[in-house]
Amino acid sequence: MDIQVIGVRDLPLIQRGDDLPALICEKVAFEDGGDILTVASSVYSKAKGFTRELAAITPPGAEAVRIAAKTKEDPRFVQAVLDSSTDILLEYPFILSELPSGHIGVRAGVDHSNVEDGRLIILPPDPPMGAAAEVRDAIRRITGKDVRVIVTDTCGRAFRRGQTGIAIGWAGMTAIDDYRGGDTDLFGHVLEITEEAVVDEIAAFANFVMGESHQGVPAVVFRNCRAWNGHDSVYFTPREDIIRIALKENKKD
Ligand code: GDP
Ligand code: MN
Ligand code: MN
Repeated sequence: MDIQVIGVRDLPLIQRGDDLPALICEKVAFEDGGDILTVASSVYSKAKGFTRELAAITPPGAEAVRIAAKTKEDPRFVQAVLDSSTDILLEYPFILSELPSGHIGVRAGVDHSNVEDGRLIILPPDPPMGAAAEVRDAIRRITGKDVRVIVTDTCGRAFRRGQTGIAIGWAGMTAIDDYRGGDTDLFGHVLEITEEAVVDEIAAFANFVMGESHQGVPAVVFRNCRAWNGHDSVYFTPREDIIRIALKENKKD
């Protein structure tokens, strides 16, 4: 069966304390096994109260003030980015940093769109896997259905212009479909290096359906998805990550 893509529409503006899984379950009749629910991290964070008031970030620290002078951003915003980060890889022209989960993102994924003025949305704190697992468990409790869940965010990429959705957290599946050694191509060659980052592929298409602005589609269901086997080591270790090593070297100069 082909994959069906279902945008979850007509959800309200999400407020702190809202039961997001319950709201989604009111709009979607989930099916067992083949359903993958993607949820925008922005709405998950709003429901859980992972937001910050700019006005409450007083005073921003010296490091935030120093970097903000370079990036021409509000030092309080930069402070929120630093507070979400465990390692800064780049300060200018934009802050690129690592989060406790291992995710590396521009401005640590701190967002001021789709939220009231003066408020920031931060990515679900470590572990974002817990966010996905929580939504998955709640859906099972409400509907009795076994649904896989991916929490997404819109992110830039190295080497190419344009943002795409990527997976921040996932539950009920491995991040990577690992073909190494166990599968052959059309000509019978054993695949030796292919590890497909399936959660990111699904997150990217979910992001296309969600849009970036006022579409109001913060969740998307992919129906009839196959299962796969692999692993969750989606983040390079610091020693493997040659881009990160180059950025850190450059930062020292
Ligand atoms: P992010 O990619 O996780 O940072 O989320 P975005 O801010 O880009 O929003 C993704 C989608 O969710 C867009 O269609 C937004 O219009 C929608 N969205 C964001 N917040 C809300 C909300 O509170 N309620 C509803 N119904 N949609 C929202
Ligand atoms: Mn975002
Ligand atoms: Mn987005």
